[in-house]
Amino acid sequence: MTQTPTRADFDQYMVPNYAPQQVIPVRGKGSRLWDQAGREYIDFAGGIAVNSLGHCHPVLVEALTAQADKLWHLSNVYTNEPALKLARSLVERTFADKVYLCSSGGEANEAALKLARRWAHDQHGEHKHRIVSFAQSFHGRTFFTVSVGGQPKYAQGFGPVPGGIVHGEFNDLDSVRELIDDDTCAVMVEPLQGEGGILPAEPAFLQGLRELCDQHDVLLIFDEVQTGVGRSGSLYAYMEYGVTPDILTSAKSLGGGFPVGAMLTTDRIAPALGIGTHGSTYGGNALASAVALAAVEFIDTPDVLEGVKRRHDLFREHLEAINRQHGVFKEIRGMGLLIGAEMSDDYQGRAKDILPLAIEEGLMALIAGPDVLRMAPSLVIPEADIVEGMARLERAVARLVADS
Ligand SMILES: *Cc1c(COP(=O)(O)O)cnc(C)c1O
Repeated sequence: MTQTPTRADFDQYMVPNYAPQQVIPVRGKGSRLWDQAGREYIDFAGGIAVNSLGHCHPVLVEALTAQADKLWHLSNVYTNEPALKLARSLVERTFADKVYLCSSGGEANEAALKLARRWAHDQHGEHKHRIVSFAQSFHGRTFFTVSVGGQPKYAQGFGPVPGGIVHGEFNDLDSVRELIDDDTCAVMVEPLQGEGGILPAEPAFLQGLRELCDQHDVLLIFDEVQTGVGRSGSLYAYMEYGVTPDILTSAKSLGGGFPVGAMLTTDRIAPALGIGTHGSTYGGNALASAVALAAVEFIDTPDVLEGVKRRHDLFREHLEAINRQHGVFKEIRGMGLLIGAEMSDDYQGRAKDILPLAIEEGLMALIAGPDVLRMAPSLVIPEADIVEGMARLERAVARLVADS
């Protein structure tokens, strides 16, 4: 049992629902990682938009270790100071009046959907339960959230799916007009589809959803699990759009690497989750809340948020330069530090082929679907790491082109 674990152990001991890369990182600092052999990598993946302040940021390490010496967990039979501080901080910084804490994005969305159903049930009656979401959307892996998500493959083979869920086309308001009616309780949408391919919503689309929801007394839910907590260049992407939802979900960057999620809502809606209607053993865990509070307070400053926008421009310039050289991308898009480069027609389905080449060059990146190379780095990634990471990406892309 003292043997050093290897990648082969994954196949031997773990359920085969993932296909991790061959290297095993063992240490991280800022936007650099080191593997078992001591090889260094630049991190443009950010743990899929989670490591908002890179690896082992001193502010988060301090919050975690200080709380670790005080109190870890109580359960919701008691409340605790870090959870109360986090909830208050989120309320003071957003449209929300009330917060529900949990441990992941899927759980935050599960809570949002159950809240919407319950609110509509209590206010209007049994009939008002229909949920509108969008093709290609992603809302998590619980059975309710894969059913609401717009990628049917994630729900197939698991038995009957929950009913009352319909899917419109993202950025197509007419498709929603046809689906929404007085039996609809909620519209759930990502302001920027992350897993679906880094597709930002058009401002008029979100504005139109808001108006349609108001007409039919439907709750508008923004899934900001991937876009939230500074990633868009504002604390939440709804602030960039100037369209306010009724319910917002947050996770990923919220904990900077510690598992935590939150659902935000208003005083009009929150009472529907009365005592005993919903819950989670770990929701509002003191360690998680202490880390999330430190992350939110550090990120929600002009310095960090303007830095995200500056870095966005830098990423774009470098990707455009790579494209001038190699012509592999059709479009470069995204918000803040959630950036996608869609592969050109000659390289359809090849985005994933860049990842192992990039690792060989010392760079970690992501994909979003078969055709989009995705980057979701630390919000405070040093400019020198961007420049060096892009040099490595250029070499990986050159090899992809040479091998084609
Ligand atoms: C990642 C993600 C989720 C799921 O979050 P988990 O923490 O994996 O449960 C939900 N919605 C969006 C938009 C996401 O990007």
